[in-house]
Amino acid sequence: MPRARDLLAVLVVPERCLHCRAPAARAGALLCDGCRRALPWLGVGGCARCGLPGPCPPGRCPARGAAFRAAWAPLAYEGPARSLALAGKERAARRVASWFAAAMTARAPARVTGSVQAVVPVPADPVRGRRRGEDHARLLAVAVAAALDVPCLPVLARPRAAVAQHHQSRAGRRRVPRPVLVAPPPDRVLLVDDVHTTGATLRAAAAVLHDGGARRVTALTALRTLR
Ligand SMILES: [Zn+2]
Ligand SMILES: [Zn+2]
Repeated sequence: MPRARDLLAVLVVPERCLHCRAPAARAGALLCDGCRRALPWLGVGGCARCGLPGPCPPGRCPARGAAFRAAWAPLAYEGPARSLALAGKERAARRVASWFAAAMTARAPARVTGSVQAVVPVPADPVRGRRRGEDHARLLAVAVAAALDVPCLPVLARPRAAVAQHHQSRAGRRRVPRPVLVAPPPDRVLLVDDVHTTGATLRAAAAVLHDGGARRVTALTALRTLR
């Protein structure tokens, strides 16, 4: 059920494309036709391990040694997809989350979503989550779990001392603080987050799930940075 506030926004505010601000394709659409056609879809033929398009050179996959077995995202973090993600952090959080969740589940390869028992959101930093009002990884995880017909189990939490990732250098982001388990994870877990960047956050979360007893962890994000 959409919230009354969201319904009102659809009825009252003329719909604008969230990328170029041209009139949207139709009422309720997030993008105009041109931007929708320009979405940077990634396909399923890339590196099975890290989700980058094209095979990684031997020994150079950024996911080597990670506790997640496979990672994938339907879209590159570029162009109209990037604008959708940014809008999803502000005004259109729920609509954008359900749009991304549909793209993630409709196109995901079986190596990522096949036979998972539960979806676990990557936990938000408690301070950042509160400031933005919405926990976007949690919104995505709930919608992805519903589409896959499995439960969403928020078994990971971020310790309060966690340093906000965007305040750190690239090298600093590789040392993200490990989340903590607040309940035992099931055997086969699908980790869900919004953007897969260096993979450090997914790595830390997957390692904690693995150490806590999960036997197979895969990662599904809405977006993948290509650089
Ligand atoms: Zn547009
Ligand atoms: Zn790779």
